[in-house]
Amino acid sequence: MTAENTTAGSGDEFVPRTVLVTGGNRGIGRSIAEAYREQGHRVCVTYRSGEAPEGFFAVQADVTDSASVDQAFTQIEAEYGPVEILVANAGVTRDTLLLRMKEEDFTDVVDTNLTGAYRVVQRAAKGFLRKKFGRVVLISSIVGLYGSPGQINYAASKAGLVDIARSLSRELGSRNITANVVAPGFIDTDMTAVLPEETQAKYLDAIPAHRFGRPEEVARAVRWVTSDEAAYITGAVIPVDGGLGMGH
Ligand code: NDP
Repeated sequence: MTAENTTAGSGDEFVPRTVLVTGGNRGIGRSIAEAYREQGHRVCVTYRSGEAPEGFFAVQADVTDSASVDQAFTQIEAEYGPVEILVANAGVTRDTLLLRMKEEDFTDVVDTNLTGAYRVVQRAAKGFLRKKFGRVVLISSIVGLYGSPGQINYAASKAGLVDIARSLSRELGSRNITANVVAPGFIDTDMTAVLPEETQAKYLDAIPAHRFGRPEEVARAVRWVTSDEAAYITGAVIPVDGGLGMGH
């Protein structure tokens, strides 16, 4: 194992952790799960629909349902013990302009992206306290910091994650628990593939790196911020956006 492959920046021994990635069956979540597995961690993923992804301890869960979240954690704990690194990645969009937005378009997106993150963080917190160790990453979006027309629901849900991370840092920071946000820009996944070509072209023009991001580029930032190298970073927002938000 090379120095790069350890979670300890001080040259300490590699400590495999129990990692949970919600929505780890595809897209960015899948890449995050693979990045942790590459390092030798015990990686669990939740999937909501479709097939369980191969090669991971996969449990079915819907983050809009606390009983389902609780059951997923119980299954993971029975196999590997408490979750030590939690990546709240599951998310949805339901884009439409304000005047056409139905109240359910707003509440459903918030229920998945924001309340869903609260549900998994709350369920994981008990285990963090028992273990005296916890790492949380909430997958937000540049849209949560910048706003975006047609995404009032999504932007609000993603902005809220920043203050979950910051308040959690203040509540539990003294217990060896960190909570950070990773805010991707435009990443090539199913979520962005459905956007009209014109929207994609506009984004491309605005991105200083002049390309879209790859899921694994988000995954590496997530993995790093939960490593021992980043143990003193909490309440931070880390953009992975090719410069689109200029650090915001
Ligand atoms: P995808 O649409 O490819 O994947 C979304 C994942 O979330 C799927 O695994 C999906 O499960 C899961 N999910 C959705 N709703 C629920 C639910 N109620 N309960 C459990 N799981 C659920 O999206 P991406 O990989 O692109 O996005 C991943 C995260 O990154 C999201 O939070 C997104 O908002 C964020 N993000 C993405 C960006 C991008 O450019 N792609 C940019 C910025 C942020 P299922 O397969 O069952 O549908």
